[in-house]
Amino acid sequence: MVGYAALSAHEAEARSGSVDAAGTARARQRLAERLSAAGIQHERVLSTVSQMPRHLFVDEALATHAYEDSALPIGHGQTISQPYTVARMTEALFAPGRCSTVLEIGTGSAFQTAVLASLVRRVYSIERVAALWRRADERLKSMRFRNVRLRHGDGALGWREYAPFDGILITAAADGVPRQLAEQLAPGGRMVLPLNGDDGQVLVRLTRNSIGFRHEVLEPVTFVPLLGGVV
Ligand code: SAH
Repeated sequence: MVGYAALSAHEAEARSGSVDAAGTARARQRLAERLSAAGIQHERVLSTVSQMPRHLFVDEALATHAYEDSALPIGHGQTISQPYTVARMTEALFAPGRCSTVLEIGTGSAFQTAVLASLVRRVYSIERVAALWRRADERLKSMRFRNVRLRHGDGALGWREYAPFDGILITAAADGVPRQLAEQLAPGGRMVLPLNGDDGQVLVRLTRNSIGFRHEVLEPVTFVPLLGGVV
């Protein structure tokens, strides 16, 4: 269940050769320290996010910024999330309890997808922009992730065929919890998502229990909007 990506990420990196290895190692160490100082406590999440070769998930022109703790453009008006946010959402998903299958909405660069695939048994991810979906698919295949399934579609509808999921993670902000996604959560399962509110966006964790859903507000966040339909 563990380590699917650890090897493949290093293999992919060895092939890439475009970023100075010693410089990258230092930049990753600094990123790990930053994430830890910012409050990320889950050791495996911390090491997976900071060791993931993020320069392979952005355009070559932005590779020198890949280990900074900031969001970066990935085209089509979308962004690769800030490493802190990826770590925080992943950590929130891994509350006590089983987390073996995860559905992600908003594949984007597939960086969050790769982090999840390194930590859980199976990851399903849906992206509405065809060009991003195609690039993400090529990227994950070249990095030899074998426990990920990607799909081009409207994520708000979920992926009924593989439901229920232990975890659902949405990487774009919605006005409310998409009902069909909530229905695809396993008992005890958790959904982590940014929601638009009166005072801006907040990160929310929804936990399915025997009587319904427990709702926790975690912290303020900034995400691109969850949009309907596909392009
Ligand atoms: N986790 C990604 C975040 C990308 S930004 C990364 O770090 O790279 C959010 C993504 O959600 C964008 O790629 C956007 O196209 C996608 N998106 C927005 N609404 C969607 C929907 N309804 N279904 C699927 N993807 C959606």
